Amino acid sequence: MKPFRHVSAETLEEATSLLKEYQGTARVIAGGTDLLGEMKDCILPDADYPQVIIDLKRIPGLEYVREDDHTLYVGALTRLEDLAQNELLKRDYPVLAEAAHRTASPHIREMGTVAGNICQNNRCWYYWLSDDLFHCLRKGGNVCYALTGDNRYHSVFGAAKVEDTLTGCAQGCPNSIDIPGYLAQIREGDMEAAAHTLLRRNPIPAITGRVCPHTCQTECARAEFDESVSIREIERYLGDQILADPITYYPTPVQTTGKKVAVVGSGPGGLSAAHYLRQAGHEVTVFERMPEVGGLLRYGIPAYRLPREVLRTQVAAFAGEGVEFRTGTEIDAAAFAQLQKTYDAVFVAAGAWQETSAGISGEECLLPGTQVLRSEELAAMKGKTVGVIGGGNTAIDVARSLLRVGAQPVIYYRRTREEMPALAEEVAKAEEEGVRFAFLTSPVAASAEEGAVDLTCCRMELGEPDASGRPRPVKVEGSEFDVHCDAVLKAIVERPDYSLLPAAMVDANNRLKIDESTYALGDGVFAGGDFVTGPATVAQATNAGHEAARHIDMLLTGRTMADEAAPVCAWGETFDGTCLEQSSRVLPPELSVEERVKSLDIEESATLDLDAVRDEAHRCFNCGCVAVSPSDLAAALVALDARIKTTTRTIFAEDFFAVGVNRSTVLAPDEVVLEVQVPALPAGAKSVYTKFALRKSIDFPIVNVAAVITNEKGVVKSARICLNSVYATPLRVTAAEEALVGKTIDETTAEQAAEAALADSFALRKNSYKVQIAKTLVKRAILACAE
Ligand code: FAD
Repeated sequence: MKPFRHVSAETLEEATSLLKEYQGTARVIAGGTDLLGEMKDCILPDADYPQVIIDLKRIPGLEYVREDDHTLYVGALTRLEDLAQNELLKRDYPVLAEAAHRTASPHIREMGTVAGNICQNNRCWYYWLSDDLFHCLRKGGNVCYALTGDNRYHSVFGAAKVEDTLTGCAQGCPNSIDIPGYLAQIREGDMEAAAHTLLRRNPIPAITGRVCPHTCQTECARAEFDESVSIREIERYLGDQILADPITYYPTPVQTTGKKVAVVGSGPGGLSAAHYLRQAGHEVTVFERMPEVGGLLRYGIPAYRLPREVLRTQVAAFAGEGVEFRTGTEIDAAAFAQLQKTYDAVFVAAGAWQETSAGISGEECLLPGTQVLRSEELAAMKGKTVGVIGGGNTAIDVARSLLRVGAQPVIYYRRTREEMPALAEEVAKAEEEGVRFAFLTSPVAASAEEGAVDLTCCRMELGEPDASGRPRPVKVEGSEFDVHCDAVLKAIVERPDYSLLPAAMVDANNRLKIDESTYALGDGVFAGGDFVTGPATVAQATNAGHEAARHIDMLLTGRTMADEAAPVCAWGETFDGTCLEQSSRVLPPELSVEERVKSLDIEESATLDLDAVRDEAHRCFNCGCVAVSPSDLAAALVALDARIKTTTRTIFAEDFFAVGVNRSTVLAPDEVVLEVQVPALPAGAKSVYTKFALRKSIDFPIVNVAAVITNEKGVVKSARICLNSVYATPLRVTAAEEALVGKTIDETTAEQAAEAALADSFALRKNSYKVQIAKTLVKRAILACAE
């Protein structure tokens, strides 16, 4: 057990003031049956492990059962066994007495209290394993293990949202896009809402939908089950819809601020900042030294992956909302100083375009790969054997482009295929098309030979892991050999050029003096994208542009972070369980190898159609937690329409539990339960509690049901039925209640109501038996309430 401080509070005031003082790091303890176990087994993640335990047991006056004409009052510290044995309860509120009696085991009932029972944590074996063995969604991880794992005891009404936690896909996305949110909107058929959700954090989805390395998909919980959801392809579909209707999605801002912002560089970083700044009402001018807008989207990523028309339409949409583009305008140090004087803020997203050394002798014989990609030289490679040095996505793009102009590329890479930083799917395509690979081969020298290049290479073998975690390539002594190429291109990391910035913004080691949390370089200058990180990805650059735009906007308008909507994962309501059937992901239609290598400009794949997008959205697990609320008393209190009185308010039982799963109640950190109040039952009311549990092997119920039904002259006047252990919160089944009111209880009506109670349920892979048991218990409870 980790160390903690134990304080016995003598009064309620002391307990609440201690809770306030420790601001969420303290927890209260009453019977101690649950919390101490959790702490002993180190179940709670470090951040939730309490530093202080405030013991309530010595506070006088909280242990009682009494009633007046209208209400039954039960003190928070009343022990469960006392409730179970209370004669008044047994006679007038049997649902409550029985719920207490069926709780846990005799010794736990002797210690456990009413408040402790209703405040207990939701149950799941993955969550409850010690030492954070399964770092699940609820503990800040990105997956609910029970959803696809062993889920015999879990929810039969779907997953519940884990508040303040991004799902795996959103965590994997550099832009933290609310992917589950827009997939839910697609399932609901609201494509426009889905498009707006996407645009909130990604201004160029038609582009990222084609070129993003889709780390969202890598983190998709479904990947472990069968195949991840094709998130990127859905994004591409939405992106194309968005571009087809720029007036709706890229409107001119209604209000303008009169502030002017200059953006240097028109790659994804610059475009993203320009868009969000423009939408905030600022006047934005983008300065680009190249003849066309787009940065590496235009002058790096080949057109067969990103058609130029898509980029042009995207740029036109930004121009339509009022962003001004000045191409062919290089910003040097003098021009930069001028921008600082003329504009209220400057955002620099000038990329990383400076050639770096491959560190081999005879380097001058090598050509820079990315420069060749964007120049006439590429076409001149036709018919030539061209060596490409590198193992990243750029090397693959260079080689596949060479292939399309009729050259024969060979990639030289010093590790093996497994260690290549390039996307596996891109490597596979390159191989399919005929790009050759020389793995475990490291060029060490180059020499020019009659217009061609002789490359001296070494064989390598894999050694111990290096700082990147990949095995270090180790030279095999004496393994040198020569290869003859018509040309050799370097496809290695390039670096940013800071010469346009004032000297004060760069340190002696040529590193930017940037505040990484605000993207600020000082004096109203901000920077982002490859210019700050070095070569990265389009999505990272758009995120930097977005975040920097927020900080620039705050600087210009005086707004604060508090005014900003926090990035949240919306919660779809359409989780229907069909996603739990095994299925393959829908892939975009692709051209055959023969077709696609014909030209640099033929897009290699097509956008999914709407049906495919919908199908794919239905494969989303809508990741939440399938742990269940186990409390016996909770079901009874909801059925009894009880109120929970706390140190600050009185809450209906139904609302008391109506939270997600990372908290079991709506209590504030410094709020303490004082009393449970149960309205007196009307004449003719009967109440029943029934439960199915495997007491010997597990300590939480499979299903529990509480019913309070009032009959008048043989007809049901009112009914309240609550199921528990079937969902994250106690579930009042109003459909069953409605099915009963006005009817006489008999086998048929009870069965119909039980069917209605479970109509919206669906089983996980291993718990369909719970649905059957729940129906049976509901029926039994109803029949037991017959007059
Ligand atoms: P850039 O896109 O580099 O844009 C910077 C712009 O600033 C350029 O247009 C430049 O001309 C302009 N500029 C620079 N200096 C000045 C100046 N002084 N005055 C005026 N203008 C200036 N990422 C992916 O996510 N997916 C991919 O599939 C992918 N493929 C790639 C393929 C290749 C061949 C390469 C090289 C990169 C690829 N990337 C890919 C990386 C991605 O393109 C970059 O991370 C991203 O474009 C960086 O955006 P940026 O806005 O920071 O800079």
